[in-house]
Amino acid sequence: MKIAVCVKQVPDATVHKKIDPATKRLDRFGEAALNPTDLNAVEEALRIKEAAGGEVVLVSLGPEKAVESLRKALAMGADRAVLVADEGAAGSDLLGTSRALAGALERVEADLVLFGQASSDGDGAVLWAAVADRLRRPLISQAASLEVGDGTITGKRQTEHGYDVISAPLPAVVAVSDAINEPRYPSLKGIMGAKTKPQETISLGDVGVDAGAAGEAGAKTTVLELGPPPSRGDSVKIEDDGSAAQKILDYVVERRLL
Ligand SMILES: Cc1cc2nc3c(=O)[nH]c(=O)nc-3n(C[C@H](O)[C@H](O)[C@H](O)COP(=O)(O)OP(=O)(O)OC[C@H]3O[C@@H](n4cnc5c(N)ncnc54)[C@H](O)[C@@H]3O)c2cc1C
Repeated sequence: MKIAVCVKQVPDATVHKKIDPATKRLDRFGEAALNPTDLNAVEEALRIKEAAGGEVVLVSLGPEKAVESLRKALAMGADRAVLVADEGAAGSDLLGTSRALAGALERVEADLVLFGQASSDGDGAVLWAAVADRLRRPLISQAASLEVGDGTITGKRQTEHGYDVISAPLPAVVAVSDAINEPRYPSLKGIMGAKTKPQETISLGDVGVDAGAAGEAGAKTTVLELGPPPSRGDSVKIEDDGSAAQKILDYVVERRLL
């Protein structure tokens, strides 16, 4: 079975995120990492491959430096990576991103396309629905477990009252939840081997997306204004000069919070 996993490079969780005031976009030039919940999708793909055989192909849209993050998933065990890197893609909103990824996925011709739950920078958790719609494939979202049958895939989706059990014919698209598994750590052998695995960098043109249909030119969303969250008037800042613990205790006792 050929499994494609959509993974995104995001700013590293330890880095303070900044917005570029000129473009009103997230500054993505600093330390970066693979989006944490996408590791669950990679892990699930590897487990399916280990049980049923096949190939795991990573698919990503991002700057050229995203290959560094793709290498982590290759080190976990993915077989190859396809990165759509194109200056014309900068500033892509949901429309452009879904066009580019759907085009790349059409080239890969996977039986199963896996997504993570949401990215730590975009956090819309709707991209997989847009891609499934473009590919005209069924979608199972928030999958907390997956089982591959004969030409079908069945997922359990956690709800307020229990589980929905959803079956779809393959080829299908699945967005996994972060409860589905515990991603493995790459082994030393995996890390060394990742450097020699095939990594293809392609352009928007290669995936059939015209200039103007992605990036800022193709965006139908405009960021009008950005600002810090309103400050809470009742907050108190305590500097730690060695007496912070006592000051915090006094604060909560005064307000009868203890
Ligand atoms: C005006 C505007 C400009 C934007 N400019 C940029 C920009 O320059 N660069 C940028 O990265 N984002 C940009 N974004 C954000 C980007 O459009 C969204 O993150 C993207 O559409 C994903 O949609 P989502 O938030 O629903 O999915 P998310 O919650 O972000 O992701 C869901 C899942 O989809 C997959 N996924 C998400 N993005 C990618 C990707 N790029 N490649 C492979 N898999 C992916 C992952 O599996 C992820 O877990 C912009 C958004 C707006 C509104």
